[in-house]
Amino acid sequence: MGTDAGNLAEMRIKKGIGVSPGVAIAPAVVMDTEEFDIPMRHVPVDHAQAELARLVKAADVSKREILDLRARTVERIGQETASIFDFHLGLLEDKVLHQKISDTILGGNVTAEYAVATVLRGYAKEFLGMPQYLAERVKDIYDIEKRLLRNLTGQRHESLAHLTKDVIVLARDLTPSQTAGMDRNHIRGLAIDAGGQTSHTAIVARALGIPAVVGLNDVTAEASAGDSIIIDGTRGVVVIDPDSETLANYEQYAIQQVEFIHSLDALRDLPATTRDGHEITLLGNIEFPSEVRTVLEKGGQGVGLYRTEFLYLGSDVEPTEEDHYKAYCQVLEECQGRPVVIRTLDLGADKYTQSRARVPERNPMLGCRSIRFCLQNLVMFKTQIRAILRAGVGAKVSMMFPLITNLMELRQAKSIVRDVIEDLEEEGIEHRPDMPIGIMVETPSAALQCDAAAKEVDFFSIGTNDLIQYTLAVDRGNEKVASLFSAANPAVLHLLRDVIRSGLRHDVPVSVCGEMAADPLFTMPLLGMGLKTFSCAPPALPEIKKMIRSVTMEQSLQVARKVMNFESDKEVLNFLHAAARKVLPAAWPD
Ligand code: PEP
Ligand code: MG
Repeated sequence: MGTDAGNLAEMRIKKGIGVSPGVAIAPAVVMDTEEFDIPMRHVPVDHAQAELARLVKAADVSKREILDLRARTVERIGQETASIFDFHLGLLEDKVLHQKISDTILGGNVTAEYAVATVLRGYAKEFLGMPQYLAERVKDIYDIEKRLLRNLTGQRHESLAHLTKDVIVLARDLTPSQTAGMDRNHIRGLAIDAGGQTSHTAIVARALGIPAVVGLNDVTAEASAGDSIIIDGTRGVVVIDPDSETLANYEQYAIQQVEFIHSLDALRDLPATTRDGHEITLLGNIEFPSEVRTVLEKGGQGVGLYRTEFLYLGSDVEPTEEDHYKAYCQVLEECQGRPVVIRTLDLGADKYTQSRARVPERNPMLGCRSIRFCLQNLVMFKTQIRAILRAGVGAKVSMMFPLITNLMELRQAKSIVRDVIEDLEEEGIEHRPDMPIGIMVETPSAALQCDAAAKEVDFFSIGTNDLIQYTLAVDRGNEKVASLFSAANPAVLHLLRDVIRSGLRHDVPVSVCGEMAADPLFTMPLLGMGLKTFSCAPPALPEIKKMIRSVTMEQSLQVARKVMNFESDKEVLNFLHAAARKVLPAAWPD
């Protein structure tokens, strides 16, 4: 197992994308390896025996599991059905198979995982070429492969719900609901092979304040269960089996980070005002009603983005009008009169619908997501709108439509709101008929048409996560193109500036609610462009406030002017780093 080899193992440093800041140090739990290929990984010659020992141990555990399963099946269903496990047991005890796996480990100095996957997949191929009754055994071979791999790499994700000690979770990928359901008391950090800066897993990790690095490509293949792991979510680094010096340095760095974060607590009740007196509004993004408390604790002045589609995650049944209504009332009640922007369902793409679709879309980010999905599912859309209008009575609440790409969609959505208002009036149900309605500007087409849209909405909220994705043609969740996903790209900055200016011209309030608002590197240019409202994940609020309180509007105007003249994101980033480090050195450690 990893711990046996741990004493001998060499430190490995992996660079990914830091998506949730902070440092965590704990042993690894590697989640299911079932769904992906096991890449070849060599081990030093003197480790091969340790790999053999891991194999024997995993085979023993697997055998015990199957015997247990067999006994329970006999008891519940009967002897006949239980006999399917005899094939599994026979395979596990097969000396020829064992020899083949051992030879693969010793012959190539590879990991036990790689040897198991290679040999068993070879077996499976052979069986496929056999008569039908034997070819059906392929499923059993895959089953054994999965079981052995699981026992080699560590616990299954189900057991993450019952942790008794601190761990760092290593996974190929996580769904937003898996991340959301994590035991915050014991899961100290996440290291994920897949994903980019604004993947929804990253967003939830940030919301929960769990340090996380994504886009690591193969961390699950590089590390084994029990290995000592450092996650540096601030710098996007994962260290496997750190040496004692690295460990000591990180322990020291973790203390400094905690001190910096604590130093920000003092700002909680102070206004987000620039040094020369310009007042800025700081709001929080939430996915769950329970997050309102954190928004307020972190000094947020309300909720600038409530991602209501998270009501759908973790549940197999569609939320009813009452489910929606209750969740919105809870948010509004906890906000105690502060403003709340409820975004209508942004289902589709990587959220909910694809995982349940019988025929997944070929290109879901460009498919039936968001407002498009709602406009095609009117019963569901109207159910939500009814709940929002009902919950809005006497509250400071606005409704926002996501992913608008043309004015027709906006007009259609508004006409549905009018229909729902008529229905509620006819039914004599109390509601809020004059609720402000805004749109997310998160597609280049919306950004380019914002002058026209400004005449038909009460506010804009710029969703930089999608705006960057669609402007730069970079899938926000794909680690292979993650380095191209950049808020500093001049095309993105020009679109942002134009939308903010359009809002100012038409007297339509503009906020930014994408992750860019949570990055202190961009606070100055956004202020300089004229942005008055930032909405970000609650843990980021204190640092953004600190940044706002550390600069003047004059300084910010100069920074904004300067960045508009650069021709590459590298130049923009270099310039912004230098400018931000000057005003807040503690936030940018060397
Ligand atoms: C965005 O796209 O920037 C945004 C805030 O919405 P989401 O991340 O939920 O798509
Ligand atoms: Mg979006």
